[in-house]
Amino acid sequence: MKKRLFTPGPTPIPESVMLAMAEPIIHHRNPEFVEVLKSVNENLRYLFQTKNPVLTLTSSGTGAMEASVANLLSPGDKAIFVNLGKFGERWGEIMKAYGVEPVEIKVEWGTAPSTQIVLDTLKRNPGVKAVFLTQSETSTGVFTNIKEIAAAVHKEYDIAVVVDGITSVGCHEMRFDEWGLDVVVTGSQKGLMIPPGLAFVAVSDRAKKMIETSKLPKFYFSLKKALKSYANDDTPFTPAITLAIGLEKALRMIREETVEHIWFHHKVLSEAVRNGSKAIGLKLFGSPASHAVTAVNVPEGVEYSKFNKLLKQKYGITTAGGQEHLKGKIFRVSHLGYYDEVDIVGVVAALEWTLHDLDFKFEPGSGVTAVQKTFAEYTKETADAPRLEAVK
Ligand SMILES: *Cc1c(COP(=O)(O)O)cnc(C)c1O
Repeated sequence: MKKRLFTPGPTPIPESVMLAMAEPIIHHRNPEFVEVLKSVNENLRYLFQTKNPVLTLTSSGTGAMEASVANLLSPGDKAIFVNLGKFGERWGEIMKAYGVEPVEIKVEWGTAPSTQIVLDTLKRNPGVKAVFLTQSETSTGVFTNIKEIAAAVHKEYDIAVVVDGITSVGCHEMRFDEWGLDVVVTGSQKGLMIPPGLAFVAVSDRAKKMIETSKLPKFYFSLKKALKSYANDDTPFTPAITLAIGLEKALRMIREETVEHIWFHHKVLSEAVRNGSKAIGLKLFGSPASHAVTAVNVPEGVEYSKFNKLLKQKYGITTAGGQEHLKGKIFRVSHLGYYDEVDIVGVVAALEWTLHDLDFKFEPGSGVTAVQKTFAEYTKETADAPRLEAVK
């Protein structure tokens, strides 16, 4: 049976990337590896649409979140975070662990914060040093308009806007420089199509100034050290060499395809999954929808654990469940990274077969038909676009 991951991290890995990582290891001080890092650094700047440094850390995505808090702020500083799901909430947990005073904006899980609520919270809390946001909240499948929020914040305040872009970089439009963002973080096992183990932090000039004066403790995750090494396409400690080699390949594929096409591709795939789910009679959870992952309510009369088990046993498909109070109530289908139209037809067909086995009433084929119709609307626009595996 084929194993098929439809989870928002780890995501499937292209064959050519896996093969690159299977080669004998090289030493990180060798000129060959310096070339790898040079290419990685250049293409990361392209991916984030920035001329600023995008630092590579050896950790999962949360390490980059922690580094952002620890390197920008000082003990007793106040910072705003938006609790819109499991990952937004994490910003606040990290702040507490570091002795930063968190100012929480809590929105119902399944919704996104408005720009106004962020501005109102800033007005009520003078002295806030930074606002921490989540562009794609993976636990609820909800998208936040960080472009609009960042513009509104910077119009009135000279403070940092920090974004968890862990499931949005390489999926949603991201223009680090143009949008005036200060820090954006992501992780390797999401839109970058490589295994977990690397995290990335883009830093603006404002962020660099804050890094210079931050007094929170750090050693391994010192961005000051990382910036110094970065200037020479180097890293302060032994990098995850094998992952960097895979990443170099994946990033060149992304560049060849172009970020604009990748953003468009994710929009189309996500629309197809939403339309397919609705046509089956399922109700979507949350809005506005992230293009990385679709959250769907488990229909009445269907037991999530049975549904999940069947999907995996019969079709090799792993999707993600709900977290915390959403456990057993929603399931999440990821379409972030290395997926194509055929994968999406397949996963929606498997949803149909599984729901049919569980006696859920719907018109067989209705989901797949809606998926096909969605793709048909876009075929002209996608016909000439380069596809990932076409790159050497
Ligand atoms: C996966 C994820 C994280 C956590 O990343 P890890 O790599 O598991 O540490 C944080 N934020 C978002 C939005 C994510 O999707």
